[in-house]
Amino acid sequence: MKGLMPEGDTIYRTARALQKALGGRVVTRFETRLAKLASVDDDTPLAGRTVERVEARGKWCLIFFSGDLILVSHMLMSGSWHIYRFGEKWRLPKRMMRVVVTVGEVPNTFAGDEKRRFPSGMTNKEDSAGFEAVLFNAQVAEFHTARSLERSSQVPKLGPDVLSAEFSLKSGVRALQERARTHPEDEIAVVLLNQRVMAGLGNVYKSEVAFAAGVNPFRQMRTITLREMETMVEVSQRYMRANVNEAGARGEGIVTYTGPRRTTRAMDRSDRTWVYGRQGQECRRCGAAIEMRKQGVAVRSTYWCPQCQPWKAAEGQSVDAPVGRAMVVRRRKIGC
Ligand SMILES: [Zn+2]
Repeated sequence: MKGLMPEGDTIYRTARALQKALGGRVVTRFETRLAKLASVDDDTPLAGRTVERVEARGKWCLIFFSGDLILVSHMLMSGSWHIYRFGEKWRLPKRMMRVVVTVGEVPNTFAGDEKRRFPSGMTNKEDSAGFEAVLFNAQVAEFHTARSLERSSQVPKLGPDVLSAEFSLKSGVRALQERARTHPEDEIAVVLLNQRVMAGLGNVYKSEVAFAAGVNPFRQMRTITLREMETMVEVSQRYMRANVNEAGARGEGIVTYTGPRRTTRAMDRSDRTWVYGRQGQECRRCGAAIEMRKQGVAVRSTYWCPQCQPWKAAEGQSVDAPVGRAMVVRRRKIGC
């Protein structure tokens, strides 16, 4: 059984799993027990909109739908998002359900059917599989537009957007410096991924940017020099812009989204990267074996070259360089 969030899992993982199940797909059904949400759905139906992306901000989970509608839910103690395939039995009672977002074709035998049996003819292919994302028990769930979200004092704001026209070397460096001041112990690669510091970089570019700047991804913010910050900001902007041009549209490969894994695509990507996805392979610059290690509370994969991105022992940091795995570990699981 895939997708059910294990207890105690982080909101990051939830957002990532939701992104994998729903991202880029069209909503085929929307159901809610919350009157305010239902009235928005009545006026401007959710069905037919595309799930553009899912984001975690602090304890908040944000699902962005096309047409400027954002479902914002707060994961208080009791709230949780579950992802089920069609026909899969819910792990919590229906009365605790607050919201259901469905993608994929809803089988006839399924709609409104209390006997939730696995419909015949459904395949396990990720592309055709339907999912139900079910929000249980959340005490806060509301719709926002980009504007109302911006004005909301509760939901944490994003940092300067690397792809926006206003973004500059200066604003990027200022954001990193501010983070170094308030969170000197944060590791740089975690900060590069933190959308509240700079918005836009995903997990792939996080590793690529640190490599380009010759910065070990596990160094703490307090050890990062101004010159290194400048290089990382400059490279971030360059890579992201190139990626947008290449992808032809914003969305592809930009957000913290690795998509349903297709071997060919993953291989294509690692062909084009310096370190990302290249664990155990030779560094394209120096020949050393690329390492990988899970990093941060969101346990994201970080790739680096131990030689091109040397460790710098500093006060408050361990003397020894962090060690990763250079062996390739195949992951078959599509969940988080
Ligand atoms: Zn190297």
